[in-house]
Amino acid sequence: MNKMIYADNAATTRLSDAALQAMLPYMQSEYGNASQPYSFARAPKAALAKARETIAKCIGALPEEIYFTSGGTESNNWVLRNIIFSGREVLVSSIEHHSVLNAAKEAEILDHYLPVNYEGIVSPTALTSAISDRTALVSVMMANNEIGTVEPIAELAAIAHKHDCLFHTDAVQAVGHIDINVHELDVDFLSASAHKFNGPKGVGFLYIRKGITLDPLILGGAQESNMRAGTENIASIVAMAAALEENVIHLQENKKHLRQLEECFFAQLAGEGIKCHRNGALSSIPGNISVSFDGLSGEAILHRLDLKGIMISTGSACDSKDTQISHVLKAINLSESLAKGTIRISFGKYNTQEDAIAIAKALVQIIKAK
Ligand code: PLP
Repeated sequence: MNKMIYADNAATTRLSDAALQAMLPYMQSEYGNASQPYSFARAPKAALAKARETIAKCIGALPEEIYFTSGGTESNNWVLRNIIFSGREVLVSSIEHHSVLNAAKEAEILDHYLPVNYEGIVSPTALTSAISDRTALVSVMMANNEIGTVEPIAELAAIAHKHDCLFHTDAVQAVGHIDINVHELDVDFLSASAHKFNGPKGVGFLYIRKGITLDPLILGGAQESNMRAGTENIASIVAMAAALEENVIHLQENKKHLRQLEECFFAQLAGEGIKCHRNGALSSIPGNISVSFDGLSGEAILHRLDLKGIMISTGSACDSKDTQISHVLKAINLSESLAKGTIRISFGKYNTQEDAIAIAKALVQIIKAK
């Protein structure tokens, strides 16, 4: 059996050593409940405050604007359902993650989804023509999880504000991977998830701009400024902060490394004369490669790569009767034949050039054997 090559970092990432080391003390020696008044609660309480500060600094926010959650799905649901349950209207892009799309679907009146172009970009013009005086919230993701497209968030947020609407961005695929400053972007809400940037699973945060009112997500104790009750998951929160800080410090070198892996992969395919169609925009999230092979089955490629110890993802999933093409590939108007032949390779900071070459070589073998 070959050594396993993991190239599905858009699905989840390996915990960094910094994150692991940061979390260990809070599981066995400093396990006190941060809400207690005695001295044993001091270290976890201080760690919680420090983690909030670190995370805030990484995205240009204030510590009191960061609310810890269980991850991206929860953060997205918190914002979307809050607006919808108060009877107000939301406008979301057609390529959002299901944690936004399915929450938006609960609205009885959902005017329409914002269209995207063939690169997956929501154009400011499309937003301007879709927004109405009934719209209360616009939600557009910062980077798409399937095709990596990075959206023009600052421009879109400015349009939303011009129309007195709030602006939310699902930045789950972007935080820890590209530069983010919430004030420069001028967003009101931003969702993030630790397991996408080498932190633990089941922890994330929601940035809520100071002064904006949102109803509490969970009622109970006074944790998270009375907005999300429940004893804090200190170990995971501390690990999330350590993972994010490390990624932000090394952001430029990680980006460069990931772009090199992309180049390596495509050079190898081109060298073997393999034709493919790359999805997404030119400036996609570093390391995200959504690529389509006309007439082939992405799902079959995924399983053959799996047999070779290579983990990637696909753009469509077969059930026994039908091939379900993802809503993202449909939204960018990819032909059915290309959509069915789509795979997503998402490199992470622990991947090497050898991995990129090995994946390309394995793909060439599979394609040539067809
Ligand atoms: N939003 C995007 C863009 C994602 O890619 C994901 C996870 O795949 C989520 C939200 C959900 O995040 P979590 O797994 O933390 O619930």
